[in-house]
Amino acid sequence: MGTVTGLTCVVCGGAAPPSALWCPACGPEGTLDVAYDLDAARAALERDLATLPPGLWRYRALLPVLDDGPRAPLVVGPTPLVRAPADRAPGGLTRLVIKDEGRNPTASFKDRATSVAVARALERGAPGLLCASTGNAASSLAGFCAAAGLRSVILVPAAAPRPKLAQLMVYGATLLPVRGTYDQAFDLSLAAAPHLGLDLRSTGVNPYLGEGKKTAALELAEQLGWDLPEWVAVSVGDGCIIGGLHKGFVDLWRMGKLPRVPRLLGVQAEGSAALHDAWARGLDRPEPASGKTLADSISVSIPRDARKALRAVRDSGGRFVTVSDDEILEAQRLTARSTGVFTEPAGAAAVAGLVKLARAGDLDPEAPCVALCTGSGLKDAEAAFKAGGAPPDPVEPTLEAVLARLGV
Ligand SMILES: [Zn+2]
Repeated sequence: MGTVTGLTCVVCGGAAPPSALWCPACGPEGTLDVAYDLDAARAALERDLATLPPGLWRYRALLPVLDDGPRAPLVVGPTPLVRAPADRAPGGLTRLVIKDEGRNPTASFKDRATSVAVARALERGAPGLLCASTGNAASSLAGFCAAAGLRSVILVPAAAPRPKLAQLMVYGATLLPVRGTYDQAFDLSLAAAPHLGLDLRSTGVNPYLGEGKKTAALELAEQLGWDLPEWVAVSVGDGCIIGGLHKGFVDLWRMGKLPRVPRLLGVQAEGSAALHDAWARGLDRPEPASGKTLADSISVSIPRDARKALRAVRDSGGRFVTVSDDEILEAQRLTARSTGVFTEPAGAAAVAGLVKLARAGDLDPEAPCVALCTGSGLKDAEAAFKAGGAPPDPVEPTLEAVLARLGV
């Protein structure tokens, strides 16, 4: 916390008070960056890298938390890097590296942001947190609040995949399924927060969440020996993850830890491509999309962290690409069958985006690249059956029937 110097607006560059959710002058579009004294942070980071155990808190010098403040007792990261055999790699991407974020405590990337949000709530003695989510941020918040002894109040679309709802119920969250879309749940969370006295963990509007998300970039850079490939791909819904990754790479580059910032590939589903379309048209403010895709984690009509997402792609020399639901399911199947990583559709979308670029001749299939797979495939069993196929009819419990089914 000693290295945080303030909050600045991504639209006007103005300063905001530490408790602000967005820029007082620009409103919700003016999302906020957390600024650090990077000279002090670099010295602290080098010390911590040499002395602290693996996991997210070894990057505390670049996080908005007290050095030794209270935290939920769950270990986040390091998540494994997994490589496919060159002869079976998805889309022939022979040097593809998958960062398997489904291996976090509640099985998604969202645990990184939640760690920071819960640590800050504990520091200031808040009774709990409120969030709207498509599912993963909700189950993450519920799990971390359970571990920290805090209350969690969760607004999710009633149509969220049932395994995610099951996590919420088991963790003991106060669950309000909303008869409506994620976007409606999000607006309700903003309206309800002042009435409840809870910290807000809805994406985009809490500037400290992106700081947690950036730890994936810091961790990836350390795991690869501070030598990153040209392309890092991630799926995009609200835009908070890609914005957080970019912030992490930029912090490291400004500190002299990286020679350059990798190019970020933002992958959106065809039916939920508001940020892709804004990027393609050179706009700063996306038009609402339908939000229709089976990849529920990136099913977003109105992206809440649009400015940071567009900045991440433009400033890194990256690009957006859209993929169909069928391409997502193909990538889910190919990733599982070549690497053993069972990722949910939104996680597979990152792989699908790289495969699409390679097939179009826009990416050398032998170039090193990273796909961030953001959640476990167990989060959405119905989508997994669409990717892998329905189980076959049962066989009779006899050896003859088993051998006959196997063609022996
Ligand atoms: Zn502003």
